[in-house]
Amino acid sequence: MSFKTKFYRIANPINRRFSFEKFSQKLLFQDLILVYHLVSDADLKHAKHLFPYRSVKQFERDLDFLLKHFDFIDWETFLKHKSEKVKTKKPTILLTFDDGYSEFYDIIVPILKRKGIFAINFINPKFIDNKEMMWRNKASLIVSEIIENKILEDKISKYTGDELNENVTSILSINYKNQNQLDDIANHLEIDFNGYLKKNPVYLTTEQLIKLKNEGFGISSHGWNHPLYNQLSLTEQLENTQKSLDYMKENQFSNDSFAFPFTDYFVDNQFFENIFNQNPELKFTFGSAGLKLDSYAKNLQRIPIETGNYSAEEILKNEIMYYQILKKINKNKIIRS
Ligand SMILES: [Zn+2]
Repeated sequence: MSFKTKFYRIANPINRRFSFEKFSQKLLFQDLILVYHLVSDADLKHAKHLFPYRSVKQFERDLDFLLKHFDFIDWETFLKHKSEKVKTKKPTILLTFDDGYSEFYDIIVPILKRKGIFAINFINPKFIDNKEMMWRNKASLIVSEIIENKILEDKISKYTGDELNENVTSILSINYKNQNQLDDIANHLEIDFNGYLKKNPVYLTTEQLIKLKNEGFGISSHGWNHPLYNQLSLTEQLENTQKSLDYMKENQFSNDSFAFPFTDYFVDNQFFENIFNQNPELKFTFGSAGLKLDSYAKNLQRIPIETGNYSAEEILKNEIMYYQILKKINKNKIIRS
């Protein structure tokens, strides 16, 4: 369990007793950036073992809370705030989503339009149009199938010699570099990823992306195929990022921002210097380490807002308190080499 998870467990029951105003007074950030993946009432086999996602009701509750305490801003306003150091009365939120899941079009955007909220979706071009399943979704789907199907559970136990729990843990820890192991397991269990994608479109289509763009939503880059950056060499990091930025430019989506898949942990200054030099249009890159400063000033940290089963209000209270503590011990800034 990470230190932060432990912190949440201890702080949350205490923080719940106080109003949000008590925390927002201590908020040292003018603009917050939040990141979700998807919202759905359905049981999504390809996602449920990766992150907890909000139901429609929970998502609306989050937004209603946020609307009370923050102003949601669009990308242009966000850029203006950053370049002109604008101070607003209310703190602001830039809302972002990662991975280009189809629920963004079907479920999320109708809610956002009703509430007048802008959002950016950071997508992996490789999976657009459901041509292929992203490796993490493959892992979640395999795990769902072996948990739900006794025949598959027995089959994989025979194959690995391990119990169900051990198999689940090892499948979910297969990493980007070893992702072909997921295809091997799926072949062995006769799980058909492409068949699944045909029946259940997991990702946005080109047509939907164009509609979203025309409606004013941001479509931006999340790397070509969702790699774990600290597993890549500098050259591979740059290639993967560049390929996704080129796709954005060719298709007239936004190539002025980029959000790291997973984490920017261990990504060093050389990457940032290169990618900003190669792409003069690029304004900011985004990590998702929560409330934190970054020694590379154009890399901004977002707050993952679907952590555990905590509401947006609980997460923000915990994050604000966590930041205060980090600041006291001078650990509130990510230092890159
Ligand atoms: Zn992602």
